[in-house]
Amino acid sequence: MKPDLEKSLGRRLERELPPPLARAIPALGRAGEKLGLRVFLVGGFVRDLLLRRKNLDIDIAVEGREGAVRLAREFSRREKILVQGYPRFGTATLHLPGNHRIDLATTRKETYPAPAALPRVRPGNIHEDLYRRDFTVNSLALCLHLSEFGKMLDPYGGFPDLERRRLRVLHPRSFSDDPTRIFRALRFEQRLGFRLTPDNLLLIRKTLAENTIARLSGTRLLAEIRFSLSLPGTALTALLTRMDKLGVLAGIDPALKFDPETARVTRHLQKSLHWFMETGGIGNFPGFEPWMANLIALTANLPDKKLEHFALRLAPSAKLRKKIIWDRARGKMVRERLEIDARIEKSLIFSLLHQFPPEAILFLEAQTGKETARQALRLFLGGGTFAKPETGGHDLKQLGITPGPVYQEILARLRDLKMNGETRTKKQELEWVRNHYGPHLRNRH
Ligand code: ATP
Repeated sequence: MKPDLEKSLGRRLERELPPPLARAIPALGRAGEKLGLRVFLVGGFVRDLLLRRKNLDIDIAVEGREGAVRLAREFSRREKILVQGYPRFGTATLHLPGNHRIDLATTRKETYPAPAALPRVRPGNIHEDLYRRDFTVNSLALCLHLSEFGKMLDPYGGFPDLERRRLRVLHPRSFSDDPTRIFRALRFEQRLGFRLTPDNLLLIRKTLAENTIARLSGTRLLAEIRFSLSLPGTALTALLTRMDKLGVLAGIDPALKFDPETARVTRHLQKSLHWFMETGGIGNFPGFEPWMANLIALTANLPDKKLEHFALRLAPSAKLRKKIIWDRARGKMVRERLEIDARIEKSLIFSLLHQFPPEAILFLEAQTGKETARQALRLFLGGGTFAKPETGGHDLKQLGITPGPVYQEILARLRDLKMNGETRTKKQELEWVRNHYGPHLRNRH
């Protein structure tokens, strides 16, 4: 049975949202009423409100010509808050105190000129706006304009689906119009604990059989892969198992498989990621991206040529591409070396590992079955093999060493000495430099 929110919506917003958001939402409804616009809460926020899940991503749809921008202007005039309007796109963003925001969009309808292409957008009413959405459970709206405040619009049967915890698209062409919805559906299954209906699973298989994922642009595919591989813990392995079984991985690249070995490493990797983040090791590596570690694991068994092809298909930045196509052959050699050597010096661990992306090192840590290698890899990841010598270039100059490439060499050796505990003080370091680089000294002290 539909919940009666007509009386309780205001109270629920007050109870569940930070004050700036709880105040702004009904105020937008009042401002809309004044302008003759119909205003609705839409999307994931409505779904999560009904599921009693916390969500602060507020999306508001405004029906009426240039509705979103006009409503945002009116609201900012009354409330004196920062507003960004994008008239070309019919959208606006309100920036509220406490770093909160609300996104407004004028209701629109979308048509797809070809499978997987970007849609053509035209003004439309609220029903058309809800019809362009991905799943019925995301196609619910709550009225905010005063005359119907709290009334639920559910033209496509989203509420019964929400109660039965099932995912369903709004029309049979939906997955082929926009195959990113396949990825979204599988993520929602894990995140919400919902299930796709059997006929929707068939629709997905049909879309995959038409090879529609191949038509997605590299950027859009990369975004979906990034979101999917960001799922935490067991949700990720469950997602990848499902993507494999349904043929989604093969739809991305026929050589991608979530086979038992990849599954084993991925499971271990989730524990490693947890360790890495909990212990603060991640702070040693600015730019570390957990999803990339998962991608490295997922693509570990792709032959080199296929991996290159895959990386080019995603067309990421040069930096991302370098991480995807990391030096796997060398990585394997280093791992094997660490597996054999029980007592290896910190400085050697550093020099063996520092040229790899940290995501790849975490992957090696998850992959190895040997405790010695695991310890060495964790030592590096935890920052235990980093050291900064007390001596700097300025000191070398003072010693009388002519500036040149030798500086880098000396400082690297001093770093190794400190890492291995062979020097502790600056005095000892300078002593070492005098002893070992005597011929470079112009004037001995
Ligand atoms: P969450 O933020 O928890 O992932 P959400 O449903 O809010 O879930 P968003 O990506 O923020 O997800 O999208 C907001 C809304 O926009 C969705 O609820 C859905 O109605 C719509 N939407 C997003 N992506 C698509 C898509 N590919 N096709 C159709 N509708 C979409």
